Amino acid sequence: ARRIVLAARPQGEPKETDFRSETFTLGEPEPGQVLLESLYLSLDPYMRGRMSDAKSYAPSVALGQTIVGEVVARVLASAAPGYAVGDLVLAHAGWTTHALMDAKGLVKIDPATAPLETRLGVLGMPGFTAYAGLREIGRPRAGETVVVAAASGPVGSLVGQLAKRDGARAVGIAGGADKCAYVKKELGFDAVIDHRRDDMAQALAAACPDGIDVYFENVGGAVWEAVFPLLNAFARVPVCGLIADYNGTSAPSGDLTVPGLMRGVLTKRLTLRGFINYDLEFYREDFLREVGAGLRDGTIRHTEDISVGLDSAPQAFMGMLKGRNFGKVLVRLAQ
Ligand code: NDP
Repeated sequence: ARRIVLAARPQGEPKETDFRSETFTLGEPEPGQVLLESLYLSLDPYMRGRMSDAKSYAPSVALGQTIVGEVVARVLASAAPGYAVGDLVLAHAGWTTHALMDAKGLVKIDPATAPLETRLGVLGMPGFTAYAGLREIGRPRAGETVVVAAASGPVGSLVGQLAKRDGARAVGIAGGADKCAYVKKELGFDAVIDHRRDDMAQALAAACPDGIDVYFENVGGAVWEAVFPLLNAFARVPVCGLIADYNGTSAPSGDLTVPGLMRGVLTKRLTLRGFINYDLEFYREDFLREVGAGLRDGTIRHTEDISVGLDSAPQAFMGMLKGRNFGKVLVRLAQ
């Protein structure tokens, strides 16, 4: 079997030498365990945080340890009741081709109900994040304006599509002409702004003539600075991610000061609330029902960016942090 371990803690942008590919051997499953072969590995922005030793909501990956991650896997051997050879599961196996895992933490999946690659994207953790953050904190109403960045990615693309289903106006922010065209034409957002243009803040203001009622925060940085003055009274801001800062080596900077932010929170009666998807697990059933139905009838669109082979993972991961991905980033490890 092969795995990728953390060779060094990235300083700023991760580089090839921060990762190391290793071969290793696995024994037979102990009672309660299964032997898994990974089919797809999910690459997600949160992994950048785990590569750092800064204090966060989850422990860091130790140097020399397999990098964390979720996979869709097939059971190759089982010593666990209820699991048979050939079963398909979701597992937190990490960046590895094979793993011995306790059956307790696994979730069985039925390939007949949804394509496997959606289980790590629109119907998996990122999709659930969009759904739960929007339902719990954003709560868009008909006629309101909802803004989201990283709008072609698995979180942002679903945020906008769900906002549309609620009767709100969806305004996306994405990097580059191709992603912008996809967000508008394929995903059906009402407007889209390229955050790479110099006049992004003016363009955003023009695209939000009635201000912003819900800003689903995926990126921070210059986008947040452009959004903040446009927030309406009683606006809601689910704080989901701050990817613009993940590779930062110094404290994030910007024109908006903490007192300026606090003044806005008070005078506009804003709700800013951070969340991690698993805080909101009680939305799981509603999410699977509603988004599952949207996938089956084709009204919810999604796209995946799939590279092949475990050794493609570091490049694919580094590219995602810079916006080189187009859709949910997956690595195909086996058929
Ligand atoms: P994506 O697949 O959308 O990939 C990240 C995207 O971020 C890039 O493609 C790029 O898109 C965009 N981006 C990177 N840097 C910047 C920047 N400086 N300004 C604007 N956009 C930038 O990622 P996901 O959909 O998986 O995740 C989106 C966000 O949600 C991340 O911040 C992630 O950490 C967060 N998240 C939070 C969870 C939680 O539980 N709180 C769970 C899952 C995700 P583009 O080219 O369009 O700029």
